[in-house]
Amino acid sequence: MSSLIYLDYAATTPMDPAVADVLTSFLTIDGCFANPASRSHMLGWQAEAAVEKARKQVATLIGADTREIVWTSGATEANNLAIKGYLEQFKGLGGHIITSATEHKAVLDCFEYMEQLGFDVTYIVPDVSGRITSELVAPLIRKDTRLLSFMHVNNETGVINDIEGIANLASGSDIVFHVDAAQSVGKLEIDLQNTPVDLMSMCAHKIYGPKGVGALYVRRREGLSIAPLIHGGGHERGMRSGTLATHQIAAMGESFAVAGALMTSEQDAVQTLRSCFLNDLSGTSAITLNGDQEFCVPGIVNFSVSGIDGPVLLTALPQLAISSGSACTSASLSPSHVLTAMGVSSELALASLRVSFGRFSTASELVEAARVINAVVARACEG
Ligand SMILES: *Cc1c(COP(=O)(O)O)cnc(C)c1O
Repeated sequence: MSSLIYLDYAATTPMDPAVADVLTSFLTIDGCFANPASRSHMLGWQAEAAVEKARKQVATLIGADTREIVWTSGATEANNLAIKGYLEQFKGLGGHIITSATEHKAVLDCFEYMEQLGFDVTYIVPDVSGRITSELVAPLIRKDTRLLSFMHVNNETGVINDIEGIANLASGSDIVFHVDAAQSVGKLEIDLQNTPVDLMSMCAHKIYGPKGVGALYVRRREGLSIAPLIHGGGHERGMRSGTLATHQIAAMGESFAVAGALMTSEQDAVQTLRSCFLNDLSGTSAITLNGDQEFCVPGIVNFSVSGIDGPVLLTALPQLAISSGSACTSASLSPSHVLTAMGVSSELALASLRVSFGRFSTASELVEAARVINAVVARACEG
């Protein structure tokens, strides 16, 4: 095999061709290109109808009402809008907020910013499983706790946090619960009608939609108001101004509809790929899997290799498009903050790989990936 094997689905997915078709039908003079806020002509109404269809597709997948969906530029913006937009009303008053040390930087950096503004922050550190449970969260809740923020699925390890248990802790109190669901939506069943999550971040490009579009779910409930980060024409009920990107939004809606239709069969297929891949890797004791292997999504495998220098490991696998740690931090040579929070040594964390796959991955790609990884590990063990 000469071409690169793409095994970095957790960083971004290729767009589904059906989704790309929808996207391109909103661009040119032949298409539905008008401004969805144009109220004075038919073309504007058609664009608005496309946006509202997509809003329904997104809401349907997660058990939400269409009035609870706010379009954003992605999960990073949704996380910022949720955390900073909710806590804005407590500026000067402060209060206590809780997250975990294993979150995406888009959440961690918001918490650091809120800390500078005077909020008290608790960062929960998981055990070696990497899983955040309600038992870990419960004893840390205080009278002045205002916000909990936990990701549903970790982007580096694939570990599934106990979102339902944590949601039930916060339910019935004034505490607002935010979930970063960028890695879980379309892969795990999410029913917000029965799970008391208040705010949930999503994006399209982890689930075969385009980059640069996402949404924040904002539960319609008393006392939950979100101040905008971006002021302007009052779009999205004042929470996020700016002309809506019809092509991106319609494509996101389509990607969510497709994901909903395929969810069960796709996850079964990915689980089969995972089992074969893990079986192929199991020959060497130099490989240790990272993260809970029961509560995890099938499409992400994270492992450390002992006896090899981290940077050497990745450069020895030029045939594979994979990540060491997370793509967001791979520009720097610091070990993954997620793995080190789980108690993995810096040395092993640096010699860790994340292999992630999905809809368009094939068994032969994973067989080949395991073969080249095994060869590199075997060479390192000899040397
Ligand atoms: C990818 C990702 C983000 C960032 O989403 P963007 O749409 O790229 O801004 C946030 N959180 C998690 C868990 C992610 O995997």
